[in-house]
Amino acid sequence: MTGDHGDSGVRVRFAPSPTGSLHIGSVRTALYNYLYARRHGGTLVLRIEDTDLKRSAVTHDRGILESLAWLGLQADEGPDVGGPYGPYRQSERASIYEAAVQKLLANGHAYPCFCPQELLDRKKEEQLARGEMPKYDRTCYRLSPDEVEARLARGEKAAIRFRVPEGEVTFDDLIHGPITFSSEVIGDFIIKRTDGGYSYNFAVVVDDAEMAITHVIRGEDHITNTARQLMLFAALGRPAPCYAHHSLILAPDGSKLSKRHGATSIAEFKAIGYLPAAIVNYLALISWHPQDEREKFSLAELTEEFEIERLSRSPAVFDIHKLNWLNGLYIRELPTEELSRLIAPYLAGAGIALQPVQREVVAQAIQANLVVLSDAPRYAELFVKDFVLEDCAAATALHSPHVPGVLQLARRHFAAMPEEFLLPAAAREVLHGLTEEAKAKGLKGKALYLPVRVALTGRDEGPELFYLIGGLGKRKILERLDAGLAYAVRSGECA
Ligand code: GLU
Repeated sequence: MTGDHGDSGVRVRFAPSPTGSLHIGSVRTALYNYLYARRHGGTLVLRIEDTDLKRSAVTHDRGILESLAWLGLQADEGPDVGGPYGPYRQSERASIYEAAVQKLLANGHAYPCFCPQELLDRKKEEQLARGEMPKYDRTCYRLSPDEVEARLARGEKAAIRFRVPEGEVTFDDLIHGPITFSSEVIGDFIIKRTDGGYSYNFAVVVDDAEMAITHVIRGEDHITNTARQLMLFAALGRPAPCYAHHSLILAPDGSKLSKRHGATSIAEFKAIGYLPAAIVNYLALISWHPQDEREKFSLAELTEEFEIERLSRSPAVFDIHKLNWLNGLYIRELPTEELSRLIAPYLAGAGIALQPVQREVVAQAIQANLVVLSDAPRYAELFVKDFVLEDCAAATALHSPHVPGVLQLARRHFAAMPEEFLLPAAAREVLHGLTEEAKAKGLKGKALYLPVRVALTGRDEGPELFYLIGGLGKRKILERLDAGLAYAVRSGECA
């Protein structure tokens, strides 16, 4: 079903507000919408909900577009790619909202409200003091048409309120099942503010109607909005979409996932060095359990298997350990050149300057150790940082009488290295030459490799020797072997 999107009539939308980098929870919403569109041969619309921003404010939607592209969750229609239902930024849709306001005023579903905010606040307090649920008392709904006209003619500022109809609102949520609200708990709400802006609930309904959205997939913090939105659809005489409200991501302590739990925005996860494939895979698994025990899913595989109806209703607890595990898995699968390219900025940031061949060798050498890309400098340091053997606990391995001979032999082989840096295959050959000659002299295994390793790194464990040989550079190798030899001779003299 992949690839032929756009034909089935299914239209979903991801509708972020551009208030900074995407929160990981919003990415999950974007992913669900993407998967739903792809699975059902539908269309994903990206709509930027910037109605709350001042007209003059710059719309910070570039970060959102970049993040979605990075994750591979590109929309089929949106502010960057266009489409037949544009514009796709709410700030550019005022005339569409205004037409809908006029329609509701004309058909009696909306009315102007002149009540000043202070009066509304006071009435709200009084209602609360009486133990009542605060709700607009419809003062302005009772104004005569003549009075309304006269006040408007005088230039009095008015908000526009939606007149909430009596009765119940019921919808069948794809995840939660049937949900019913009594309109008694919903006061006549504002659809257009006195400052001329349109309310969230109103703009969303007009857009979902005008953009022919068939399925609204969003967080369950919007469930209560859905009642208001359904009333607006009915009043506008437009069919309502189906709704699926997914659970929200919580921190392990049950609170809202926030800064104090670590990274929350996609920009932060990217900066730490999480791979998009791991993030997507993790977010899909967070409240969805595939039929089998499989945990690793590419976006294409998710498209085939993911069913929104099977999402758990329980809160999704964010488990960084699982994300880390998946990220490590994806890092280990990266082709060397790609890993080398991806770790480059982290190495540069840590002041580790490597030649291209050297970086490729280092990438391979540390690949299995990395959980996130920003771990790279910690493991790569070995290839560039100088050390003094006297300060290294592992240097005791150089105290044995056979060590000077081993290091001299190694030096002879490494001095014949054809290049400064060697890719692993060539470095293996050099090591093989050394191993063979050493064997003939009765030296093998630890007796051979440990002194070489300690002389080269000051440590008794680390990446495979051929990575060290290829990545350290001939000059550094010879320097270190000389230092190791001098140290071994000194320690032999003292013994
Ligand atoms: N702009 C809303 C938000 O960022 C989304 C609204 C919706 O999906 O209806 O929460």
